[in-house]
Amino acid sequence: MEHKPIFVTPAQDAARRQAMEEFRALPDRPKSYFIVTYGCQMNAHDSEKLAGILDQMGMQEVPDRREADFVLFNTCCVRDNAERRALGNVNWLKELRKDNPALLIGVCGCMVQQPVMAQRMLKQYRFVDLAFGTHNLHELPQMLLKQVKEKRRVVEVSNEENLICENLPVKRLNDWHAFITIMYGCNNFCSYCVVPYVRGRERSRRMADILREAQELKQAGVQEIMLLGQNVNSYGNGSDNGETFPELLRQLDKLDVPRLRFMTSHPKDLSDELIEVMATGKHITNQLHLPAQSGNDDILMQMNRRYTREDYLRKVEKLRRAIPDIGLTTDLIVSFPGETEAQFQDTLSLVREVGYDSAFTFIYSPREGTKAAQMPGRIPEEESSRRIGLLIKEVEASTARVHEAMVGKTENVLVESISKRDNTQVSGKGTRGITITMDGTEADIGKIIPVSITSAAVNTLRGERIER
Ligand code: SAH
Ligand code: SF4
Repeated sequence: MEHKPIFVTPAQDAARRQAMEEFRALPDRPKSYFIVTYGCQMNAHDSEKLAGILDQMGMQEVPDRREADFVLFNTCCVRDNAERRALGNVNWLKELRKDNPALLIGVCGCMVQQPVMAQRMLKQYRFVDLAFGTHNLHELPQMLLKQVKEKRRVVEVSNEENLICENLPVKRLNDWHAFITIMYGCNNFCSYCVVPYVRGRERSRRMADILREAQELKQAGVQEIMLLGQNVNSYGNGSDNGETFPELLRQLDKLDVPRLRFMTSHPKDLSDELIEVMATGKHITNQLHLPAQSGNDDILMQMNRRYTREDYLRKVEKLRRAIPDIGLTTDLIVSFPGETEAQFQDTLSLVREVGYDSAFTFIYSPREGTKAAQMPGRIPEEESSRRIGLLIKEVEASTARVHEAMVGKTENVLVESISKRDNTQVSGKGTRGITITMDGTEADIGKIIPVSITSAAVNTLRGERIER
């Protein structure tokens, strides 16, 4: 059951705006910023909000952290290596302080929200000037103002886990693609995962607010909207006003933005109604990220995923029946505590059976405070390396089969970038989410171009423009 969100009040919005004004008027304030982002797309979108706020505070984003007066690390703690990379880079920044003593260093996001980690980091890294958790993002103006005025470290980590802040400025990475967060937090408590502890309780934005944001994006010419949430399928769960995920998709589809994507979907909540909306919607792309995590029932149970391999495969079958050319992608974990060789083999065979377009593959990483961190049967590093190596090979073989089968088909490509090595080549994604490369120029970026797929490689497909 979803928790009732607590919306940031107009008075709190006014306090934020006032702090922004006061900050802008300070004679000796930081003038430029650089944000370093780790982790998932939710974090990438949070950074777009942070940038939007900093712009409104009269600061300018610079392309190199060495030129910035304020460097902010938006951290991730979902796995150990994300943490280590962030800490390494924060430490490296200490060197920059030697050249620029006025440099302000900030750390925010999931790592700061985790009490043990935050304490450890703040003690070890005395040079960090500002630290705030995931529930304090909207208070950045007040925190920065305080830091600059009082010239002392400011730390804010709220435990208000049900908060939703509308009306924040967003500085989008580009003008043809946009993220919209539809729900925050997670109530699933998969036994390995720290997200529910650092992102708070599951809560959904009001449908009217989402539709308004999408409408504005449409008017701005956005070609693709990506809806974000830890478990988008449970959008509106428990609401008594019909605000469900399938209904939200139906409404968004009517806006006629060319492409609608969403992630992440939890298999347990993938309903027949959602499959039907995906199949009938005009703009919902034929792609679904459906994290399986494991192909073995005992491991799935210990992970607290609340579906079996059979349940998962049945849903895949339903999806394929409704949307024959759907591309499926997934997340998989090897070396969950106590995972046997046979259980690991079940994950390999799941990859073969489903035939994923691609997959994110992870070695289990124990997270403090989670249930799995207490479980016996830690798998040695060497064995984990072997397993992840085999899994990656299996996924690559699956990708290769999918790519081969695409040759000769037509796809609409939303061009995203021009090749750094060869400026006659551009690449982008088809509706199925696979990267396609073709001849083109800078002017193609942000446009949807029909192509015929001419050849396949492991990481990309090659296409040739077709005249319509
Ligand atoms: N809410 C999404 C994704 C959350 S985190 C979902 O439920 O699918 C993204 C991925 O990181 C997860 O799908 C999982 O595969 C991986 N992950 C999370 N915690 C992990 C851990 N402790 N060790 C290894 N991988 C982990
Ligand atoms: Fe983590 Fe599970 Fe929630 Fe995904 S659904 S964020 S894996 S607890």
